[in-house]
Amino acid sequence: MKMSNMLISTLREVPAEAEIESHKLMLRAGMMRKMAAGVYNYMPLGLKVLKNIEDVVREEMNAAGAQEFLASAMIPAELWQESGRWDAYGAEMFRLKDRNQRDFCLGPTHEEVFTDIARNEIKSYKQLPLNLYQIQTKYRDERRPRFGIMRSREFIMKDAYSFDKDEAGLDVSFNKMHAAYVSIFNRCGLDAKCVEADSGAIGGSNSAEFMVKSEVGEDDIVFCTACDYAANIEKAPSTPDMGEKEELKELRKTETPNARTIEELVNFFNCSKKNFAKTLLFNVDGKVIAVMVRGDREVNETKVSNVLGGAVEFEMADEEMVRKATGAAIGFAGPIGIKVDELLVDTEVVNMYNFIVGANETGYHFENVNYGRDFEGKVGDYRNITIGEKCPHCGEEITISRGTEVGHIFKLGTKYSESMNANFIDEDGKSRPFMMGCYGIGITRTMASIIEQHHDDNGIVWPLSVAPYHVTVIPVNIKDENQMKIAEEIYGKLKKMGVDVIMDDRNERAGVKFKDADLMGVPMRITVGKKIVDGEVEFKLRNEADTEVIAIETVASRVEEIFAKNNLSL
Ligand code: ATP
Ligand code: MG
Repeated sequence: MKMSNMLISTLREVPAEAEIESHKLMLRAGMMRKMAAGVYNYMPLGLKVLKNIEDVVREEMNAAGAQEFLASAMIPAELWQESGRWDAYGAEMFRLKDRNQRDFCLGPTHEEVFTDIARNEIKSYKQLPLNLYQIQTKYRDERRPRFGIMRSREFIMKDAYSFDKDEAGLDVSFNKMHAAYVSIFNRCGLDAKCVEADSGAIGGSNSAEFMVKSEVGEDDIVFCTACDYAANIEKAPSTPDMGEKEELKELRKTETPNARTIEELVNFFNCSKKNFAKTLLFNVDGKVIAVMVRGDREVNETKVSNVLGGAVEFEMADEEMVRKATGAAIGFAGPIGIKVDELLVDTEVVNMYNFIVGANETGYHFENVNYGRDFEGKVGDYRNITIGEKCPHCGEEITISRGTEVGHIFKLGTKYSESMNANFIDEDGKSRPFMMGCYGIGITRTMASIIEQHHDDNGIVWPLSVAPYHVTVIPVNIKDENQMKIAEEIYGKLKKMGVDVIMDDRNERAGVKFKDADLMGVPMRITVGKKIVDGEVEFKLRNEADTEVIAIETVASRVEEIFAKNNLSL
């Protein structure tokens, strides 16, 4: 395509609305524009990259034996009521009514729809296994849409659903998707690591996430420094610190007038955070849940939610709830005499001796508190693992980095098929629920993540596999007929070879054209300038600093060489 015919929307200024590199660069390169919070329009350049990523995903999904489908984004409430998720999904679901007041939603995900398709279309084990996927727009009214298309309210997802007759079959389907995901992210030039993830009430090692390391990521990933263990912090089990055994001292109530935070209490009692057990109150689906962890630890909401059978709304209790449960102001909650629906006690607290807790009375704490003698609760692992703790696999030290989830593979088992009565007839003539798996990739988030990993001060550095264009041909002076003729010839030849090539024939200075090419991240640049008198042009790779001067007749083979180097064919 000739750039004089293209909508080029590059910006020199860094837009104020963007905080992270991928968001800034997508706006600056003119790949997308914001419509509303978390809602974007894709401009031609952005759309090209999206389509390229989609092609990679399609090829790998098809190669893994999955079949493409397209379901409606608008889903009747009845399906969600059958699975029990119409109420459970909460505020993240965009809901609407038709003219007859019937409820619908804009699909945030499609388990219900695909389960419905399976129960209508698949009757016998002979039709199994089956894996259906789609690439489609999803809607989620995120609490905090941010970072451009990293966390948006409308986004493109590839979602796949597998149907098997038994667990062994599901294992095979799951492993195929795992392998397909590894290939997809490799081909997109994305360094994504597969980590163990929380699988909610289903449990087991049934869920894995593909994570890209990123300082702006919203997940914490636990890595072992010695073995290949990697898990989302939501999932990684902690190892309780076994406190030194001490004689139990007499319980004592102490006035602590101005000390309520852990820091203030550390100063007041002149001791370490480890001598405290904090009692945090949560509002979990309207119930008051108290969770006790050692003073220096963090509560793990996923672990807490799982022990409660899976929670929908999980937030800190408000002042009124705290007052009702403790009879005191915020900052003085403790396990002794507290009125809550459930008291959860982290295992580590059971191994502490003579510790300090809130007294459920404004301005007071208890000292010399001991589990078993002074209070009891439901004991378990309710806290986040911390850097330096033991790897759950090999016992060596773990470390933690931030990451962003780009893909998720999940064994659903019969969760949806049972609740929605989706059955098939097995070999022995019995009716059984489908064994299901679901597999998602955020296409738009993948695009942003690729930019996070591939950019420099001048702009995006697209991997050739997903680049919006492979080559840009830049005539330095469009008024020079000879330059234009050679540029046209090169452009025409590359186009014929199947190279996705653009020619910057705009009436702009060469410097402007170079800047735009760099910002847009086109992998190869061919500059047609004064050297044509010697039969030469400049050839430059976006990801390398040097410019080569090559003979005009070798341009095609040079481009072919770069494709081969990237394991791509023309
Ligand atoms: P997160 O923890 O980031 O909210 P999720 O667990 O809600 O993700 P899934 O329901 O597993 O995500 O969705 C599958 C994929 O869709 C994710 O791996 C991610 O790549 C993408 N995705 C999810 N939410 C968003 C969003 N708001 N914006 C862009 N992509 C998203
Ligand atoms: Mg989410």
